[in-house]
Amino acid sequence: MSEGKPVVYSDAYYVDIGDHVFPTVKYKLVRADLIRNGDLSEDDFVAPRPARDEEILLVHERSYLDKLKKGSLTPEEVAALELPYSKELVRASYLCVGGTILACDIALESGVGIHLGGGFHHAFTDHGEGFCVFNDVAVGIKRSLEDGKIDKALVIDCDLHQGNGTAAIFKGDERVFTFSIHQQNNYPFFKPPSDLDIGLPDRTQDKQYLDALDKNIPKTISAFRPGLIIYVAGADPYTGDKIGNLGLTIEGLKKRDEIIFTLAKNYSIPIAVVLAGGYAERQEDTVKIHYNTITTVLKFAKEYSKNGQRV
Ligand SMILES: [Zn+2]
Repeated sequence: MSEGKPVVYSDAYYVDIGDHVFPTVKYKLVRADLIRNGDLSEDDFVAPRPARDEEILLVHERSYLDKLKKGSLTPEEVAALELPYSKELVRASYLCVGGTILACDIALESGVGIHLGGGFHHAFTDHGEGFCVFNDVAVGIKRSLEDGKIDKALVIDCDLHQGNGTAAIFKGDERVFTFSIHQQNNYPFFKPPSDLDIGLPDRTQDKQYLDALDKNIPKTISAFRPGLIIYVAGADPYTGDKIGNLGLTIEGLKKRDEIIFTLAKNYSIPIAVVLAGGYAERQEDTVKIHYNTITTVLKFAKEYSKNGQRV
């Protein structure tokens, strides 16, 4: 169904973190809906390998990595992570980085890479925070740059929260343009500047949000001409989100996805999508928003190959 563009996913993304606002079961549920509705078959999914230490070290400090492996994070460091520490969590985080690396590779080969996971944009070089252990987006980009596969990358971060870790990691790196559109009055309260930040007022609705994308993304792409886009497709700008306070509808979020994928196609730029946050009151809404992102990108991937714009 996905015409040779497998969806990157692992059952091990589910980690038991107890009673927590972060629904780690969502990945499994999105996958189940994709199969149930006939969008994809079991064979269309590919499991990533865990990222290698040397890949993680392209972004993160060895001392942080050692603490994670040994379980020697301080109570303050675990508190900043806002997740209960476990070996299972570390294992899942290695896999997630491997997943985004694989999605970047698939995007660079075929135009479109889909990661049913990832988007942990709050992780910094020396610490994790806000449910994010490793910054998979940053590792995916650094590895593609180091391998000489691309010269430049663009991050389009549409999660409700500002991409603070990604912004800090790529500060002063002219090879990477970081764009973040987010709720201004929300975590992270200190926002290291991205190359372009759009901080939106509370309860921003579909039209204002989509107009901001239309106004800023095309000119960013045409001026910067990246070799790869990583699209951070958070579900939390949704009006029914528990920890966010923007006012987008499920339909509005689908239009958001269409805008980004259409631009990538029109400019013939490989794009890898990662899912990031989503904390709706009704879990099925988070699942639906992520489901829509995947089905929209699948439709777009078909058109991409039909047009023969990329190999
Ligand atoms: Zn978020």
